[in-house]
Amino acid sequence: MILEASSIRFIFNKTFLNNLTALGLCFALASCGNVNNDGNPKDTRSYMAAKGEAQGTFYVVKYKADQNLQPGIDSILEIIDLSMSGYMDASIVSRVNRNSSTVQIDNHFANVFNASKEVYSLSGGAFDITVAPLVTYWGFGPTQRDSTDTNSIKSISKHVGMDKIRLDQNRIVKDDTLVTLDFNAIAQGYTVDVIAEYLDRQLIEHYLINVGGEIKAKGINDRGSIWVVGVESPLEEVQIGRYEVAVDLKDKSLATSGSYRKYKVVDGLKYSHTIDPRTGRPVEHNLLSVSVVTDNCMMADAYATTFMVLGLNASKVLLDSLEGVDAYFIFEEEEGEWGNYETYNFRKEIVHSDTFLLE
Ligand code: ADP
Ligand code: MG
Repeated sequence: MILEASSIRFIFNKTFLNNLTALGLCFALASCGNVNNDGNPKDTRSYMAAKGEAQGTFYVVKYKADQNLQPGIDSILEIIDLSMSGYMDASIVSRVNRNSSTVQIDNHFANVFNASKEVYSLSGGAFDITVAPLVTYWGFGPTQRDSTDTNSIKSISKHVGMDKIRLDQNRIVKDDTLVTLDFNAIAQGYTVDVIAEYLDRQLIEHYLINVGGEIKAKGINDRGSIWVVGVESPLEEVQIGRYEVAVDLKDKSLATSGSYRKYKVVDGLKYSHTIDPRTGRPVEHNLLSVSVVTDNCMMADAYATTFMVLGLNASKVLLDSLEGVDAYFIFEEEEGEWGNYETYNFRKEIVHSDTFLLE
């Protein structure tokens, strides 16, 4: 989950004073009428926000435009739900899961399926959208679970694995009809990318898209600076304004996965909603959250989940082989304290360097 830093007050510092001077200059230069001093038409665009609920979460899109783009954004959200929502009986994925013989997949489904297969391969099966029956078994689907047993986990795991399913033109082909799909670990990030493409087509140069904490930024904010967002502290209760690190998002995406809020209690034990498909069990290591920064929000989302499954050490190895992907890990140390690990470039290029004061 991500907090935008607009809820954070700047301490008086150099950047703030520069901004103030720039603001003063803008007012001083402002002239009356619809043309600037140089005779060109005035920029009538202003920052607007489209917001609402979608995909079981919230979304906020801030953008600088001279027209309301909420209807276009809402129709994208609807189309993606119709393709990938496991909570809609009529969606393409629900019909694929029911083995409907007539179902044809759309481009959105194909894009996310192909990216999922790529991450499945390079993560050695840690990221796997066929994890669906295990997600349900552990109580993260519609049914609750009071106890678990190793035999059930073993027999369910036989129907998990992206090697048992493939795309053939616009159809899904399964070797095993009990294989089902869950796009939750990647669909939100993908939705952010599709909204970004829509805004790009509308020639919007400045925006911040946030769908359930998966974010993409372009250009600058309404205060004239790079968009800054905060990585939320891994606390069970939401605490507005509490964050671990502030991040400069210069035309980049950021996605976070965490175990600190979405978990279930079974037999008195806490289980994360991130499942390791290789063991059939929820992950049990000490990672609390992983945030990933890269160009594409779909990949940031997929990698954030992958790193949550792999744990810190195996994630470091995978990160070494990935170009242009940076990450920030928060883990629990022995005394219950939080520790961090971040990639070199994350500290050097991405962490916001100004001093912040929480409101
Ligand atoms: P969040 O950002 O809310 O922490 P993620 O993007 O990590 O969520 O997605 C978690 C969801 O993805 C789970 O609720 C489950 O539906 C699904 N999932 C769980 N484990 C895996 C996995 N190993 N690979 C792919 N999807 C998974
Ligand atoms: Mg994810």
